[in-house]
Amino acid sequence: MRFSKLFVHTLKETPKEAEVISHKLLLRAGMIKKLASGIYSYMPLGYRVLRKIEGIVREELDKAGAQEILMPVLQPAELWQESGRWDKMGDEMMRMTDRHNRNFVLGPTHEEVVTDIVRREVKSYKELPINLYQIQLKYRDERRPRFGLMRGREFFMKDGYSFHTDEDSLEKEYQNMHEAYNNIFSRCGLTFRAVEADSGNIGGDTTHEIMVLADSGEDEVLYCDKCEYAANIEKAESKFVAKENSEELKELEKVETPNKKSIEEVAEFLGVEKINTVKAMIFKTEEEFYMVLIRGDYEVNEVKLKNLLKVSEVTLANDAEIEKLNLHKGFLGPVGVKLKIIADETIKNMKNYVTGGNDIDNHYINTNHNKDYSVETFADIRIVKLGEKCPRCSDGVLNSARGIEVGQIFKLGTKYSEALKCNFINENGRQQPMLMGCYGIGVSRTMAAAVEQNYDESGIIWPISIAPYIVDVIPVNMKDKEQVEVAEKLYNNLKENGIEVAIDDRKERAGFKFKDADLIGFPVKVIVGKGIATGKVEVVNRKTGEKEDIEIEELLNYIN
Ligand code: ATP
Ligand code: MG
Ligand code: MG
Ligand code: MG
Repeated sequence: MRFSKLFVHTLKETPKEAEVISHKLLLRAGMIKKLASGIYSYMPLGYRVLRKIEGIVREELDKAGAQEILMPVLQPAELWQESGRWDKMGDEMMRMTDRHNRNFVLGPTHEEVVTDIVRREVKSYKELPINLYQIQLKYRDERRPRFGLMRGREFFMKDGYSFHTDEDSLEKEYQNMHEAYNNIFSRCGLTFRAVEADSGNIGGDTTHEIMVLADSGEDEVLYCDKCEYAANIEKAESKFVAKENSEELKELEKVETPNKKSIEEVAEFLGVEKINTVKAMIFKTEEEFYMVLIRGDYEVNEVKLKNLLKVSEVTLANDAEIEKLNLHKGFLGPVGVKLKIIADETIKNMKNYVTGGNDIDNHYINTNHNKDYSVETFADIRIVKLGEKCPRCSDGVLNSARGIEVGQIFKLGTKYSEALKCNFINENGRQQPMLMGCYGIGVSRTMAAAVEQNYDESGIIWPISIAPYIVDVIPVNMKDKEQVEVAEKLYNNLKENGIEVAIDDRKERAGFKFKDADLIGFPVKVIVGKGIATGKVEVVNRKTGEKEDIEIEELLNYIN
């Protein structure tokens, strides 16, 4: 690759909108360009990195026996209605209509489509198990697209799905994929950790997330210092929910009502380091639904709510439904949730968590809840104490770290196969729903995560396996014919020997080229300067900064 011909525009200044390192550096190195919020183009160097990651993902999955397919981005609404997720996915799903007014979605994930394929094609137990994957753009209308490639609205995902006759077979494949993921992220040069996780919208019970540890991570991971227990705090927290009659709850009851205290105040009162609260009120709106309005101190989603409220079904209310309630806008966050009928027992449990909210006008304009509506209020205060005993080994204590979720594996069970009637005929000639697993990797997010873990004040330090090019040959003085000649020769020689090499043949000062080389993050600089008089070039290691004078003849061996 010749810099003189390369379409790259590096930036001296960091664009204002960039908060985290990977976003800043990928923009500055000219690897990605923003089109709109959460939507990016990949420039030649950036696209090479993305393809390298894709390549590693492909190799490892193919080796593990999965088969690559490509499914449509555009999917008919009917399939999503069949699975029940048309309503459940809420505003995160990008929806559109065609000219005949038929509804479509831009795929946020592909369980429905892949299950539709398999139910049509696979009939017998003899054809199972199978594991199909694809690498493709996904669309999610994230509430807060941010951090560049980390949380986009259009992003690359590897999504894979396996189909099985029985639990043993599913378990085997789950482990197989777990191992493939370890290989993939190791080969990408990342430091990561598998943690127990929530099952999210996708469903199922057993699930692990692969977390790349970095301060900018949006997730918090708790891990034990003695055993291998590690969990996403979303999951870990449920173990620390204040239980009825527990000491913690007694403490909570002492908190004055109505609850006008900030979380920090409550945390201080309880003498704990960290506290997350979700305050909510609940009232009956129709025969079969309770409307719950949540003011969350962090983003509330269906799964968190399910765990929090201990119910099996929650559905996000749409804006119109929330609008109708004539809310006191100052108090409530934007999230409304519709709950299927919940047992009286659950309501009673909720009452145990009441900490206030019954003042006139507190939540609802001109009302006192208990009078005008059948309102129950509750708050659930979840306490996580760092330094708490590990729930697994009860020996170690829990520490916390920030993590970037680069992948997740799930055992889905029969959730989708039952909804979509994806059956097979078993050995006894009977119809039975297939068991499914699903396996995601954020390919573009992995690119960002790699930068979060590998950079310095001069720029990116790509791990060799995913660097856009390995070597940058830099003639120091473009007016010096001999230097240019040697540089060209080395460039051609390395290229012919299969090394991914660039030559910075731009008529610019050496310092300028060095800066670009470091910003872009080539693992190796080969500097062709005055040393050629004694037959030597300087080789600089981007990561360690080590410099070495190498005989020109020896360069290829040295690089290899
Ligand atoms: P998150 O918790 O970060 O929103 P998720 O759990 O919703 O992610 P999954 O449904 O598990 O995501 O999708 C599989 C993988 O796709 C994730 O592990 C993550 O690496 C990646 N991913 C998800 N959402 C995005 C996004 N908005 N931008 C980039 N990558 C994403
Ligand atoms: Mg998400
Ligand atoms: Mg997640
Ligand atoms: Mg996930």
